[in-house]
Amino acid sequence: MSQQGYVAAPPYSQAQPGMGGYQGGFGTGLAQPLHGHYGGPPQAFTAPTTGKGLLLFISVVRMRQGLEQLQQVCTHQIVLLHFTSYRNCLASGPMQSPPLPASSVAQQPFQTPPPSAMGQPQMPPVLQSPHMSPHMSPQMSPPQSPPANMQMAGQPMSGPPMSGPPIAGPPMTGMGRPFPGPPAPGARGFQQPGPGVVGPPGYPQQAGMPGAFPGAPGGLAGPPQKKLDPDSIPSITQVIEDDQGKQGGTVYKTNVRGQVPPLVTTDFTVQDQGNASPRFIRCTTYSLPCTADLAKQCQVPLASIIKPFASLQKNETPLYVVNHGETGPIRCNRCKAYMCPYMQFIDGGRRYQCGFCNCVNEVPVFYFQHLDHMGQRVDFYERPELSLGSYEFVATLDYCKNNKPPNPPAYIFMIDVSYNNIKSGLVKLICDELKTLLENLPSEEGMESSAIKVGFVTYNKVLHFYNVKSALAQPQMMVVSDTAEMFVPLLDGFLNNVTCQLSHDPVPLLSSLLDQIPDMFADTNESETVFVPVIQAGVEAFKAAECSGKLFIFHSSMPTAEAPGKLKNRDDKKLVNTEKEKTLFQPQKGVYEQLSKDCVAQGCCVDLFLFPSQYMDIATMADVPSHTGGSVYKYNNFQVETDGEHFLRDLRKDVRKSIGFDAIMRVRTSTGFRATEFFGAIHMNNTTDVEMAAVDCDKAITVEFKHDDALSEETGALMQCALLYTTINGQRRLRIHNLSLNCSLQLSELFKSCETDSLINFFSKSACRAILNQPLKNVREILVNQTAHMLACYRKNCASPSAASQLILPDAMKVFPVYVNSLMKTAPLVGSTELSTDDRAHQRLAIMGMGVEDTQLLLYPRLTPLHNMDVSSEALPAPVRCSEERLTDSGMFLLENGHSMFLWLGQASPPDLIQSIFNLPSLAHLQGNMCALPELDNPLSIKVRSIINGLIEKRPNSMKLQIVRQKDKPEMLFRQFLVEDKGLHGGASYMDFLCYVHREIRQLLT
Ligand SMILES: [Zn+2]
Repeated sequence: MSQQGYVAAPPYSQAQPGMGGYQGGFGTGLAQPLHGHYGGPPQAFTAPTTGKGLLLFISVVRMRQGLEQLQQVCTHQIVLLHFTSYRNCLASGPMQSPPLPASSVAQQPFQTPPPSAMGQPQMPPVLQSPHMSPHMSPQMSPPQSPPANMQMAGQPMSGPPMSGPPIAGPPMTGMGRPFPGPPAPGARGFQQPGPGVVGPPGYPQQAGMPGAFPGAPGGLAGPPQKKLDPDSIPSITQVIEDDQGKQGGTVYKTNVRGQVPPLVTTDFTVQDQGNASPRFIRCTTYSLPCTADLAKQCQVPLASIIKPFASLQKNETPLYVVNHGETGPIRCNRCKAYMCPYMQFIDGGRRYQCGFCNCVNEVPVFYFQHLDHMGQRVDFYERPELSLGSYEFVATLDYCKNNKPPNPPAYIFMIDVSYNNIKSGLVKLICDELKTLLENLPSEEGMESSAIKVGFVTYNKVLHFYNVKSALAQPQMMVVSDTAEMFVPLLDGFLNNVTCQLSHDPVPLLSSLLDQIPDMFADTNESETVFVPVIQAGVEAFKAAECSGKLFIFHSSMPTAEAPGKLKNRDDKKLVNTEKEKTLFQPQKGVYEQLSKDCVAQGCCVDLFLFPSQYMDIATMADVPSHTGGSVYKYNNFQVETDGEHFLRDLRKDVRKSIGFDAIMRVRTSTGFRATEFFGAIHMNNTTDVEMAAVDCDKAITVEFKHDDALSEETGALMQCALLYTTINGQRRLRIHNLSLNCSLQLSELFKSCETDSLINFFSKSACRAILNQPLKNVREILVNQTAHMLACYRKNCASPSAASQLILPDAMKVFPVYVNSLMKTAPLVGSTELSTDDRAHQRLAIMGMGVEDTQLLLYPRLTPLHNMDVSSEALPAPVRCSEERLTDSGMFLLENGHSMFLWLGQASPPDLIQSIFNLPSLAHLQGNMCALPELDNPLSIKVRSIINGLIEKRPNSMKLQIVRQKDKPEMLFRQFLVEDKGLHGGASYMDFLCYVHREIRQLLT
């Protein structure tokens, strides 16, 4: 085959021994030789003591007698006890199946088939310059003369005189609104340096109050100034509405290089014509600066946000699967880029030039095709890899661990059965749900049943494994009480195909087991739990079964039992706003760090469902999920009645998500620039390979690019994201997303092609990473400085000359400041002792995995008036700006940000409205803890519930509906999401922030 004696490198050339690089990382020392040899004298029985007599208990204890190295027998002691009679059934049945032999296949790097044929030239797909949108310059208006319409383009208006009267200062008393709840003490906004102060602004500093600009002249002491008209500053809701009006309902074709797609909030259909859909890849700008100097000058980050498994709309075509046969996908010899629309066929189709590295490759014989008179292959439209931006390749054995086809993935449900979870009814809730949930496991399109195998573990201080092999008469339980070195006491029977179980068993063992689990532990007093051994058990189970998969862990307390990964309470609010605040976000190292690596190496994704009643060190506990493509769900003070449905919705969504396992991603670029930084729920073992134990349809990886060399306006810039993964059916695939961008020597082109929603995604993730290592104060400072710098650069280089007092913003970035301001008010970044450390850590980790839609919505929640909508219309009512000023006393508003959802009711809500929605005579009758609306048969009720249910269905997380009345205490929770106002926990109002940024810009320009 190899005509040139070409020795291929692995697909991801930097494979390293150890893990992840598919060299030595997989299949090393599979099951430890000690496992599976059970025998010896029975140990103390450690199983629970109640039940229905259907279950066998087996206690497996590892002895540490130094014999292990000499003798591989008798290292585990097993007691098989019948539940009711304590009948010993030593080491029979499942106990005797040894684990699979240790890795018997030599580690081999992936190999690439050599090229084998000659061809002729061909033109790449036609790429055009993007359509230019007209330059727009919304400006600040002076307090005395607000412009009639800020959305009018190109009319500079004078801004507030920054050295003159102070910006409308915050009122001195709390939030300036009567609230039964406590004001937020100690919260800090940022401080503005006084006039003439040069250098970095000194915010946030002490002595501030929420949202204050203490440094502004008179800002603290002076009386509030006449307010600027809030309608005069750029509005996100307006931008969203305009784009929806312009591009909503249209078909977006991806055949134009550097084309800026519609906003994430706009409803449009994508037709792939050679570039990846914006659902898969979005960029901070679609026109890269040609040189590193220009990039440095404008400080606009060059980044892509890649969501490899993004859900498509129903009317969009799913990805085609391409099979290049046993030699695997065709790739460039030099840079390893996969066959794509950017390969230019030459020499009559016998050769092709790589668009990424310019290497000329021979076309394999089987792939040869003639070119037409335009130089295009005549099979252009028949081959997805030549004409589309996104498609999949069937991966050959070279792309599989140990050169063996993978097994289908497995899901293991691991339930904390300690006292709290039993008492709250959580365990029963989970077990009941699993019975139906397991019948709906995801399956490959076109397949009847799911190939996913499932297993069950319960745990507190010890772990209980369940054998539900269908040949058994009853489920068996095995207890592992030595958690120091975790192992799985059974292989055969632990992971099963549930579809068969549920439908074919006369008395399904699985249902029987799920019925029994809550009863078995009903009398437990055990409140201590382990955590690391639980994940280790999952990894070991996958290792033994030679598969990847996901662990669903339902856990409620900090793991304090004596075991690896035991944690101590290290929460310390005194660290907030100090240099050491970062330690609150840093995970404990050691065993947790190693665990993440082990999980990634095995393709073991960890999803955590947490039910805390107090601090549990989420920074550490969520470390493994955040490196394995997992999700963390948190239900504070969980109660089945009020939170049960919310949790179950999340669980159902999570289990059914489309997902790929054991994934490794590489982003290749054309010459001149390259990917340098990666942000996401990922693991990086080297500088280029993004490893994810799993990646689901909601996870996005943000990739930053840097220049290596100058880019050419003519050829533009190309990127190819290749994701190698295992499908839920156990097939190895390569998912390819290609995107071409423009390059320009004009900064105005870059600013025109910016996408604010993507920019803020990048800034959110980079800031959330930075707070691990830097004081929050610095991070916020950098955010503001960079914002000011970008806008100043635009002003200096792209805007027509105008008075310095005018704030001129690039049209594509005109609402960027409101997002940045909102970002600084998020829990992780705000630096408030009012917020729980766990909540902050949780949100920080969540942001790291978010796509553009999610950060957009998180930072600018949707506030929708529902009291005056047209109930006969299909359309959703238009949202209003996120500010208290938009609320009305007689109104009803829905607010959601993808994580929280509120129905807010004005104190003067008319009785007929309350009657229609709640079937109550007045607002005063409303109970505080309602979390769902009653199903009433009137048009308003039906419409409101349909809107709420639609949003819950649409978002990655299901949200719990919270109903708040104006001026009630819980309204505080709601008000923190009104991001245009001053932050409850600190942070400026949008208006004040914009004035501050303007001031910074003016300093930069002088
Ligand atoms: Zn190449």
